[in-house]
Amino acid sequence: MQLGVILNRVFRMKDNPLFDFVAEHQNELDKLYFILPLEDLSDAAEVKRNDYYKVVKGFITALQKRDIYPYVITYKKLASLVDDLDLSHVLIAKDIMSYHKETYDYPHIKTAFEKHQIKVIGQRVNHYFTPLMTLNKQQQPYKVFTRFYKANRKNVIHTPAKSYQYKQLSQSAEKGFNQSELRLDNNENMEKSARKAWHRFLDEDISYYKQLADDVSQDFVSGLGKYLAYGLLDIHAIINDLLEGYDSDESSYESFIREVMFREFYYILMTQYPETATQSFSEKYRNMQWSYNQSHFKAWQQGQTGYPIVDAAMKKLNCTGYMHNRLRMVVSQFLTKNLFIDWTWGEDYFRKYLIDYDNASNVHGWQWSASTGTDAAPYFRMFNPIRQSERFDAQGYFIKTQLEILNEVPSQYIHNPTKHKDKLKENYNVEIGKDYPEAIVNHKHSRDYVMDKFKQFK
Ligand SMILES: Cc1cc2nc3c(=O)[nH]c(=O)nc-3n(C[C@H](O)[C@H](O)[C@H](O)COP(=O)(O)OP(=O)(O)OC[C@H]3O[C@@H](n4cnc5c(N)ncnc54)[C@H](O)[C@@H]3O)c2cc1C
Repeated sequence: MQLGVILNRVFRMKDNPLFDFVAEHQNELDKLYFILPLEDLSDAAEVKRNDYYKVVKGFITALQKRDIYPYVITYKKLASLVDDLDLSHVLIAKDIMSYHKETYDYPHIKTAFEKHQIKVIGQRVNHYFTPLMTLNKQQQPYKVFTRFYKANRKNVIHTPAKSYQYKQLSQSAEKGFNQSELRLDNNENMEKSARKAWHRFLDEDISYYKQLADDVSQDFVSGLGKYLAYGLLDIHAIINDLLEGYDSDESSYESFIREVMFREFYYILMTQYPETATQSFSEKYRNMQWSYNQSHFKAWQQGQTGYPIVDAAMKKLNCTGYMHNRLRMVVSQFLTKNLFIDWTWGEDYFRKYLIDYDNASNVHGWQWSASTGTDAAPYFRMFNPIRQSERFDAQGYFIKTQLEILNEVPSQYIHNPTKHKDKLKENYNVEIGKDYPEAIVNHKHSRDYVMDKFKQFK
């Protein structure tokens, strides 16, 4: 066979099932090419775009150090390159949900190649479970997370590492060229940095995870989302590490495994209900009359809502491409409940900014907050952003990292500046409405409005 290996977001040398496939089928190869298609991130935030290119460059350098020279092209040119190389087969990852554009995912690519009589071999590279492994007795996907977790936890077991040699790859492969405008100027081994950060989390932070992960002023989360979104680390290797350390601190490790299983749960739901990428999972809410208020949406995007926890979280997202899980819940509840704006607007904004963007986790995270998803927050349990701020950033440390203007404001006033505007002006020289925005909506009023709206669909 004339095989093209499409290196789509499996940016790792180790534990790479695509490389394993090549090594195992070496004798069947007449020609072998590696091809790295670059995603078009022109409508993504700069912070996300730059990070993507940095990781891609680091991966290409790592390949070249092992004498593997991929063709580097844009996705647009993929079909014509495959044609020019006269490939009979392409090998491609089939379970990636982190693309910025839907057209890069497996079903689209597969259909496009098959139209040209090219055989597509799909490999699972980025998730632990396959949908079929996890169905319930009625052969349906679990729709409640705790049931999914209970039924499938026993299948989270140690798996052997892949054992290919890089020489097997470089000796068989033809040399490709960089046909893109990308300058290959990053020598950092991103995979090694990711592994180091992951092991640092295991050594230093995982034992605090259960107790402190929700405290947004501290940093006891893993950052794993980004490594999984790029395929820098292998989920099987991660699970192996977790199982190896498990006996040292069962409850902390278990709570982390549970979180990782959330990602699997959403992935499986998305494969079974792809229409929920743009529509409410709960059919009864599909005709909800959401708000499309542009000025509210802009205030939310720019961190100008007058609710410091929301504003600080959005500013952090805008400048780093990352937001803590608790804050994702707070800002998504704020957008969909306090502002009653369509969750798809928020989902799309996160897609443009989040470096760890994952379609399944993002869509279902948003639908959880909007109360339209499977196993979602019931609409009557609406978050109070002030209360969330008091609970998860009690001293306002996180808020102050992003909103300098509130630096001198003590914790008893920082969560609800509109209420304490006189104090803030008199004692801390902060004028609400001028130096920092007045709350754009009143929480109690929004709550009454949302309850009414949802009750109409009962
Ligand atoms: C509105 C909203 C949008 C989200 N969008 C994304 C997204 O685009 N990409 C993404 O990876 N996650 C998303 N999440 C889930 C979660 O917020 C992130 O996985 C997490 O914050 C990533 O940071 P971390 O790796 O440091 O997390 P950690 O707390 O260290 O968690 C470890 C890993 O467990 C998994 N995980 C933890 N919580 C969840 C969860 N609620 N749902 C699914 N997986 C989870 C992730 O793989 C994560 O990397 C979203 C959540 C919400 C509420």
